[in-house]
Amino acid sequence: MQRILLVEDEPAIADTLVYALKTECFEVEHVLTGREALDRQADNPFDFAILDIGLPDITGLEVCKQLRENSSIPVLFLTARDGEVDRILGLELGGDDYVTKPFSPREIVARVRAIMRRSEGRDERPRSSTDSTSPTADPSDSLLAHDETSMRIVCDGSPLELTAHEYKLILVFLGQPNRVFTRDQLLDHAWEDPGAVTDRTIDAHIKTIRAKFRAASPGSEELIQTRRGLGYAYVP
Ligand code: CA
Repeated sequence: MQRILLVEDEPAIADTLVYALKTECFEVEHVLTGREALDRQADNPFDFAILDIGLPDITGLEVCKQLRENSSIPVLFLTARDGEVDRILGLELGGDDYVTKPFSPREIVARVRAIMRRSEGRDERPRSSTDSTSPTADPSDSLLAHDETSMRIVCDGSPLELTAHEYKLILVFLGQPNRVFTRDQLLDHAWEDPGAVTDRTIDAHIKTIRAKFRAASPGSEELIQTRRGLGYAYVP
């Protein structure tokens, strides 16, 4: 059973998350402060950390920094404000993902699973390069791949020339295949200041992303599907 450390000082948020994660068969330990989190991790290391950024003692960002000094534990940040997202991205703390409040517990569970899948792949790559039939790997994923080191998206073997926003949008989709994202959700995830742009911005970016996919591999533009009246989904 995977053990998750949840660091969140708002009991109402923590309770719903603990419940949702336990329902999904994770073992969850909840603490209210950053110091407690570091102590628990030192006592008995966890497999995953969910860190609220606004904590009463030290920030979640600082907790992440200290956790990462002696482990590669995957980290999902919970943020209350868009301004905090800038800091996560700007400080390059090595958090694996972030979710802006308010969120649904289901969204968190999906993110945790996606990050765990990614980090398992990261650990296994050197050992299992000859094993292409890993049970968690989706065989059609190979059309679109994320090269984390060079921060590039590769479509059917060709690295794409993307703007920062196009890159972040594609990462949002890759994190949760088949999920339908509304335009607002995509703005929240991929823009540091979503208030400054409109829904149309998303449509324009999806259009250029599809064109770049198509140029790299005809037909691959259909990986990003339009759900009329709802939004967009990445369908591998
Ligand atoms: Ca808080």
